[in-house]
Amino acid sequence: MNANLKESISENAVTQFLGQETVPMFIGGQFVSPEGCKTIDVVNPSNAEKLTQIFAGNATQVDQACKAADKAFKTSNWATMPVEQRSALLMKLADLIEENAETLGALESLDVGKPLAGAIEGEIPFSAGAFRYFAQVALDYDKYSDPLDVDGMDSHYVRVPYGVCGFIFPWNFPFLLLAWGTSAALAAGNTVVVKPAELTSLSTLYLCKLVKEAGIPDGVFNVVTGYGVDSGMPIAEHPLVRKMAFTGSPEVGRMIAETCGRNLLPLKLELGGKGAAVIFDDVDVKETAKSLAEIITSNTGQVCCTASRWLVHENIYEEFSSEVSKALGKTVIGNSHGDSTQMGPVVSEVQRQRILGYQQKGLDQNAELVVEGKALSPEGSEDGFYLTPSLLKGDSDNICFKEEIFGPSAFLVSFNDEDSAIDIVNSSSYGLANSVWTKDLDRAKRVAEKMVVGNAWINAHNVFAYGLPYGGVNLSGMGGGVNSLETFEDYLRGQTVARPLT
Ligand code: NAD
Repeated sequence: MNANLKESISENAVTQFLGQETVPMFIGGQFVSPEGCKTIDVVNPSNAEKLTQIFAGNATQVDQACKAADKAFKTSNWATMPVEQRSALLMKLADLIEENAETLGALESLDVGKPLAGAIEGEIPFSAGAFRYFAQVALDYDKYSDPLDVDGMDSHYVRVPYGVCGFIFPWNFPFLLLAWGTSAALAAGNTVVVKPAELTSLSTLYLCKLVKEAGIPDGVFNVVTGYGVDSGMPIAEHPLVRKMAFTGSPEVGRMIAETCGRNLLPLKLELGGKGAAVIFDDVDVKETAKSLAEIITSNTGQVCCTASRWLVHENIYEEFSSEVSKALGKTVIGNSHGDSTQMGPVVSEVQRQRILGYQQKGLDQNAELVVEGKALSPEGSEDGFYLTPSLLKGDSDNICFKEEIFGPSAFLVSFNDEDSAIDIVNSSSYGLANSVWTKDLDRAKRVAEKMVVGNAWINAHNVFAYGLPYGGVNLSGMGGGVNSLETFEDYLRGQTVARPLT
């Protein structure tokens, strides 16, 4: 990251945005500061300092947002305008996201603790891509079926938007997940009410300014901030919401699903994971070890689909263990705005204690320590929530092999043949993303297809592209996933139109 860029960031929109007494919500096209509403401190995980504060919203603001979204669906021309016009507005929003990448990336980096350059040059432009992709999908999409082949009927099928779609997001990729979810719903002609995570709401709130600037009608995009119980659940409970999408933990996903079930509200769930990487003995051990070390430390391991269960063929187990330990030890850990930082802090002290607590529980269940995870206080950022990556090894029934830790913590298990590797992989209750590493592409494809998982990757992990469906099965989610034509169709309801000819 060059010094000029940093300088320009610190003096511009970021400072102004953070300088607001409390960052307002966005309801019906207005920036709203509800009187008497409690607030939540927003903390920079790199130094534990307060950045600003947001409102702790409740059912009152959710009700206002849902009514505004419903009104916009029914009375603005968002749902009915020619698709060319709606897609042009979303393309304009994508342009504005790219033009504001430095500001958005800086906010994301300060809020979550992720390295600045990756946020500005990677996540933010990639997020803009979601709006572009779904704007194009909408343009190419024919909402009418051909006439149906039914005797005695003039009939066809048409797909129309639902109306108000509710979204609740987690804290690890606030902007990217917001883009992945809402872009499809908006492109299909719906209006949205969004509840970002209370820990990391800033980039979502900044987007509201760009939504307005793009000329998207008031009420189409609404944001209510706050804690889950107070401002998330009321969205799922609201009678005007017609489709719900939740991204987060399976525990909360289940609660949202129960609520939606009671109200017969259709729901999409993108939940947690416990990704496996199966590494055969024909790989370049050093290169593969380096890749896996990069994968588990990316976003400080706070990635739903990361590979944290490493199944390594017994012939290369010791060598891999040694190479990956060296690679993990080289990770440059520091302030999210540090020039050479590869891995920033975790998002909060609670998260740091959770990760270190898991390590202890794993050791209590007889795992062996290969690389110890420790709290860290880098010079100049002593109060931040830093820790070093960790690696345990042992049996596949260890708690650290089975449960999602959500940190830079991996677990090594050895295997001796393909079938036993697949059995171990599929012993997980999760089913988000796994990978297989081998030079034998026939074997790679065979193993990939036998994994019970939404995404099976070959010689790579964390593979995302627009047009490539991404979603989970079992504890990892249901309802179609993100980033594909199917996602767009998830935000359209089908309607049969029929006229008997007799
Ligand atoms: P979380 O489930 O604790 O919170 C997610 C969101 O739900 C937050 O906005 C939170 O405020 C809200 N929430 C919490 N309790 C609620 C309640 N009772 N009612 C309504 N809303 C409530 O998850 P998290 O800690 O923010 O994120 C980590 C989890 O998210 C991990 O399990 C991770 O794997 C998962 N995740 C999944 C994906 C995916 O695409 N599958 C992507 C990112 C993260």
